[in-house]
Amino acid sequence: MTATLRDDLAALRALSAELMDLERIGELLSWDQETMMPPHGTPYRAAQRTTLDGLAHQRLTAPAVKELLDRLAWPASDPQSPLSEVERALVREMRRDYERAAKLPEALVRDLARATSEGVETWRRARQQARWPVFAGDLERIVALKRREAELLGYTDTPYDALLDLYEPGVTTRALVPLFEHLRTETVRLLDRLKQAREQPDRSVLEQPYDSRLQWTFIETVLRTIGFNFEAGRLDRSTHPFATSLGPGDVRLTARLHERDLSVGLFGAIHEAGHGLYEQGIDPELARTTLGRAASLGIHESQSRLWENFIGRSLPFWQYFLPPLRDLFPIQLYERRLAEFVRAINVVRPSLIRVEADEVTYNLHIILRFDIERRLIEGQVQVRDLPDLWNALMQEYLGLVPPNDRDGVLQDIHWALGLFGYFPTYTLGNIYAAQLWTALRRTYPDLDSRLAAGEFGLVLGWLREHIHRYGRLYWPVELIQRATGEAPTPVYLVRYLNEKFGSLYGLAPVGAA
Ligand code: ZN
Repeated sequence: MTATLRDDLAALRALSAELMDLERIGELLSWDQETMMPPHGTPYRAAQRTTLDGLAHQRLTAPAVKELLDRLAWPASDPQSPLSEVERALVREMRRDYERAAKLPEALVRDLARATSEGVETWRRARQQARWPVFAGDLERIVALKRREAELLGYTDTPYDALLDLYEPGVTTRALVPLFEHLRTETVRLLDRLKQAREQPDRSVLEQPYDSRLQWTFIETVLRTIGFNFEAGRLDRSTHPFATSLGPGDVRLTARLHERDLSVGLFGAIHEAGHGLYEQGIDPELARTTLGRAASLGIHESQSRLWENFIGRSLPFWQYFLPPLRDLFPIQLYERRLAEFVRAINVVRPSLIRVEADEVTYNLHIILRFDIERRLIEGQVQVRDLPDLWNALMQEYLGLVPPNDRDGVLQDIHWALGLFGYFPTYTLGNIYAAQLWTALRRTYPDLDSRLAAGEFGLVLGWLREHIHRYGRLYWPVELIQRATGEAPTPVYLVRYLNEKFGSLYGLAPVGAA
């Protein structure tokens, strides 16, 4: 390796480290805002965030950075050059970060920031009044700016791809449509069968008074047992649960408890712990570079869903954890059988609200949003058409029509924030999770009995080995391919849902007479 090449790589690493530091200082400010900051701190915090973002943008878009990346472009793409796999990926991802920042003029970034911060305010008001027209004008402005952003970022097939790529590198609309279509048809079929089942579970066991302090004790026990390292992380309370990382050695989770519903705090916390375990598992050598983050939002979500649903809502998990839970809540759980408890945490019921949806119907909520926002960005539908389109698709996919726009098209904050292309990552997370889960079970055919004995380290070890440590070294499709031997496919999710809920609802296996 020549001295110049070595110097250039060192400069790139130093820049990447500095940018990652700035980003994580920003994360710390956000964490503090959600957990500790007094209400009157808001304007100061907003100014601090703006200053920090400005500094990062200046550093990343400096002319010297472009020259550095140009000099490294050839060695990074030539298989004969002495660059390591990590160095190649670092050049690739730094170039992506640079281009994304450099392609968007400051005026557009400022307009978007203003449009979305005003958009969130009008969205709140519109939602409160359940009146779409209150928000429609602002949303039109946001959509126009996002379409402009997509044009500047560039795409091959559809402008929606440019936005999707921000969250799920390398994934395209063309690839997603058949995946989602298959999942949708199969889910609707499963729902029809579940509706006809004789045994309809109820969740009354969960809806009793559960003391917060004791819930917290149990949640900490669960998180510690599945492998969350409290020496490299913490758990606090907040209005909305989230996970944030200041590096693999400092991962912050939050939870929100409900005094009369055990599942809210518990499964919320397991979900965030899934995100946290991922962040704690990223190779420390990558941590202070742009590769030291999750491969994508979809991969991130696959980790939270895997722990929350595939493990946390499974029979083996509760074979292990119901006895200690019963010790904490002897009155609430007196004479409640294991099977009854597991059925209660797995009730399937089509509903209007995405965030309250169960494991089966959840993806239909996402596919509906994907269908709408894609057409909106492509200009095939207009903002004013959204309520009618929403209600028609709700009827078609879930058999329900919202009584008003608050419980319909106005329920999510995402569009007000300009987050188009974000929703699909939730369902991609479920698809990836099912595929990883299937591969994991192939490795450990006796997994159920070992989980029932509390051997959760088996799962964590496998995920560390195949997913966590790589950070952003590989894009999601390649990462899944490497971990499971196949490109992402929805067939494992469909199979998992059919088997799990078929058995919980006492249905005959598909194909049986
Ligand atoms: Zn999540």
